[in-house]
Amino acid sequence: MNLPATNTQYLLEILIDLLNTPSPTGFTDAAIDRVEAVVGGLSGLKVNKTRKGALVAEWPGQTAESPRALTAHVDTLGAMVKEIKPSGRLKLSRIGGFAWNTVEGEGCTVFSSQGQHVRGSILLTEASTHVHGGKVNELKRDDENVEVRLDARTSSVDETRDLGIQVGDFVAFDPRVEVTNGFVRSRHLDDKACVACLIAAVKSLQDAGCIPARTTYLHFSNYEEVGHGAAAGIPAQVAELVSVDMAAVGEGQASDEFHATLCVKDSGGPYHFGLSNQLRRLAEEYQIDYKVDIYPYYGSDGEAFWRAGGDVALALIGPGVDASHNYERTHLDALVATTQWLMAYLLSE
Ligand SMILES: [Zn+2]
Repeated sequence: MNLPATNTQYLLEILIDLLNTPSPTGFTDAAIDRVEAVVGGLSGLKVNKTRKGALVAEWPGQTAESPRALTAHVDTLGAMVKEIKPSGRLKLSRIGGFAWNTVEGEGCTVFSSQGQHVRGSILLTEASTHVHGGKVNELKRDDENVEVRLDARTSSVDETRDLGIQVGDFVAFDPRVEVTNGFVRSRHLDDKACVACLIAAVKSLQDAGCIPARTTYLHFSNYEEVGHGAAAGIPAQVAELVSVDMAAVGEGQASDEFHATLCVKDSGGPYHFGLSNQLRRLAEEYQIDYKVDIYPYYGSDGEAFWRAGGDVALALIGPGVDASHNYERTHLDALVATTQWLMAYLLSE
């Protein structure tokens, strides 16, 4: 049996729209709303927002026995205003795990609690080579030495406050999305790439008139980057959970930008042997060329559910993403492989 084809144009449209919707962890309503608009429009899916702000869609299958769940996250790395400096510039507190040098020089938007958007950029406190010479190279990239220069006339705490900016405001980094020769280059492919794959899988199955073998819950998580996204929101009767999240690409890794990977172990330990093997069998059956890998510094939302007491078989698959938690890149081949794999899983008995 063949799987329906992935609609790559649909996948990319959803992905690019999501990438351009700022959603640092804690400030994900706009991204969740966009997912809700798309998923809620797919026939037969019932969507609900959890109290925590995640989105859960229920897709009735051939049987309601032993339901399944898939989770992918819309939240991304970002920052919060920690302090308004006497210069009017902003000191930041990081959201999620990343190094400051990966966003140095990046454009950003500050979202005030009253709805104002103020543009700016992330810079070293001693940024100009003409003024600071070699120090620009030597200065440690840390919370003290990195700041936001706002694109507004301010040189004092009061002037910045007059822009509506306060401590605790969210800061989103520009994604800088670019698609070239099948490569998708952007920040936050982790994990918007997988959200798009998941939606594209459902869409292709529906267009082909298919429903899942078992009732399936799609969980769109909003707190993954801080470690507890899927700790809530997965229905208790779910028997199997597949976390759909990026594969770590780099030296020593089996994953690459052109394949989907099955992760068998990460910082949280091994995944479920039986469910992982089922996914391997499906990939082989449908001739999806996949990788198997271990991620050295990585935790998934599925593990958050396990830690919260979730009693499920758990596996993790996703497309290879180069330079993760940095200026990331993947290839359409990896996105299609992930989408096909998801379809195979949804249809499997
Ligand atoms: Zn992720």
